[in-house]
Amino acid sequence: MPVAASAEAEVLGMLTFSPEDGRIWFNHRRVMMLDTVSFATLRDSLIRNLGPRAARRLLTQVGYQSGVGDAQMLRTDYPDDYRERSRIGTRFHSVAGIAKVEPITTVFRPKDGYFSGEFIWRHTVEDDAHIQTQGLGTEPACWMELGYATGYLSTICDQLIVFREFECRSMGSVVCRVRASRPASGATSMRICSTSGWRRPRRRRPARRQRNQRPSRWRPTPRRTSSVNPLP
Ligand SMILES: [Zn+2]
Repeated sequence: MPVAASAEAEVLGMLTFSPEDGRIWFNHRRVMMLDTVSFATLRDSLIRNLGPRAARRLLTQVGYQSGVGDAQMLRTDYPDDYRERSRIGTRFHSVAGIAKVEPITTVFRPKDGYFSGEFIWRHTVEDDAHIQTQGLGTEPACWMELGYATGYLSTICDQLIVFREFECRSMGSVVCRVRASRPASGATSMRICSTSGWRRPRRRRPARRQRNQRPSRWRPTPRRTSSVNPLP
């Protein structure tokens, strides 16, 4: 059996449909089927209500947590060779109908957790949703996919591996192209991708002054005393 076919068969073997109790399992994780119209509606609502930047941040976080979950599942089930088996991760989203992942160049050294590479993503469902609701634009839009890939490989490698999309169907390209590498800044903490970490630190605003609170520099004005007693 070809390697690719055996990897797909292995991932398909992790899926269990349990219609008698209304559940689907991907190994130990419960999953669900969501049609693309519902996904596009949800995504569009996030963009309209939160704005593109906040929606992007949120969807990237969702994808990141999903990638971490899949990688942790591998680590739990195959503690001795989860890094070797992590190569089947490119099949997870193919089987789930999210995208077809084609490696162009990859350098993966499982023993020291090193990874860099370039991939083509075809038929990404997120681009279908984005183009359907937002039309073509000037920036990549595979936000959840980038988050997923970053979370998955960072967990597998035990160090931050960041994915960046430099061509995207939402920009009019035929396919999406992404690169994976260690961050240029040399950051080692995975916390920058965690749920709380994507946020920029906010500037501390001065506490709002309460209605009857006087400014701190306020000093009571000394009452003028008159030497003349006005009272008779
Ligand atoms: Zn894309």
